[in-house]
Amino acid sequence: MSSSHTPSWLASGRSAIWPPYAPLGADALPVASAAGVRLTLSDGRELIDGVANWWSACHGHSHPAIRAAMQAQMERFPHVMFAGLAHEPAYRLAERLTRLVPGDFSRVFFTESGSVSVEVGLKMALQYWMIAGRAGKTRFLSFRGGYHGDTLATMPLCDPEEGMHAMFAGVFTPALLADLPEDAAREAALDRMLAERAHEIAAVIVEPLVQGAGGMRMHGPDTLRALRRLCDTHGVLLIFDEIFTGFGRTGTMFAMQAAGIEPDILCLSKALSGGTLPLAATLAARKVAEAFESEHPAAVLMHGPTYMANALACAAAGASLDLFEQEPRLEQTAHIEKQLTAELEPCRALAGVVDVRVKGAIGVVQLDREAGFLRDRFAPLGVWMRPFRDIVYLTPPLIIDEPDLSRLTGAIVQVVSGWSGSLV
Ligand SMILES: *Cc1c(COP(=O)(O)O)cnc(C)c1O
Repeated sequence: MSSSHTPSWLASGRSAIWPPYAPLGADALPVASAAGVRLTLSDGRELIDGVANWWSACHGHSHPAIRAAMQAQMERFPHVMFAGLAHEPAYRLAERLTRLVPGDFSRVFFTESGSVSVEVGLKMALQYWMIAGRAGKTRFLSFRGGYHGDTLATMPLCDPEEGMHAMFAGVFTPALLADLPEDAAREAALDRMLAERAHEIAAVIVEPLVQGAGGMRMHGPDTLRALRRLCDTHGVLLIFDEIFTGFGRTGTMFAMQAAGIEPDILCLSKALSGGTLPLAATLAARKVAEAFESEHPAAVLMHGPTYMANALACAAAGASLDLFEQEPRLEQTAHIEKQLTAELEPCRALAGVVDVRVKGAIGVVQLDREAGFLRDRFAPLGVWMRPFRDIVYLTPPLIIDEPDLSRLTGAIVQVVSGWSGSLV
């Protein structure tokens, strides 16, 4: 971008901003506006968005129906504290989520980020076992390749070696780590581990079908059914972290629907508010929630963030759920899946490409090395993408049309073939 187009706030604020997962002073593109699948930069350039606000903007940017719902709520109030006070957007959203999510989820706890919704899920599990008189069940089991958040209690649940938190190894008690039970041998290994240690395990946590920030690794519904069986056999709770997969991303409204089983605790965030405002929800199955209907001192969930159940965010989430009812998002996802499968396929034959995989509206080209060096090559082609780890990937808004999606896949084929060609 030429300096004449660099806005003054970017130049002067750059020394004050601490950017995420990047060195101080890292470059960032100045966004002037965002609508539909397009980001408009300060210099007027348009980028087609292949990332959708870290996988959350399922209806595209600035959807008029979500904006209208937020504006209407704004006229009443943006926020009130949620202890002792109640408001319609949160109560309606909680009831709606318990009906929308398959299975028998009876209670919803709202927070303001995915990581915190996982922490609340962990607390629910710990207190559940305290109430049951099983206070020794204080540990958690998670899987290689997993990611469950950036906070101090969620970091130990992430893949300890390949995750983004390897430098903190040894600082916190790690979770028990296992391989996903993707075949009979690994299922037997997990069975043995649980048989030995279930007395100290409160819950098993997993991202169903797709492990997102761990590199968009995919597994089948059988794996989830095996997990459900093992958790039932050994008496540990099962937590599904559907923060990434929830709300249509993998082709069904929730990934668990592909397996036909339900967890005991469910974490939702990201696309819950359509990618507009920070909001997350932890849902408890009736069995878990009803344990808290007790006189036991541990039967009060000890959590309550200042901005929990923010009214604007809940109003946005309500409008987002309306859009899922009114518009054919899951059909759009099926169409995106077909198109990604066809149009990313040419990458498979390229030198340096290890794998090409697609699930719902997630398309991945995996390289034989770190892919971050390709980051700057996409904006000049008019698309917004952010390769990480060893993958170049797409998680576009579910409303994207065929020509725009072709621009995104075309850019990947062009950039990856250009690099691949230079290898030989
Ligand atoms: C993004 C994500 C989180 C963390 O959510 P934040 O809102 O970034 O705290 C946790 N789990 C999964 C699966 C995620 O994709």
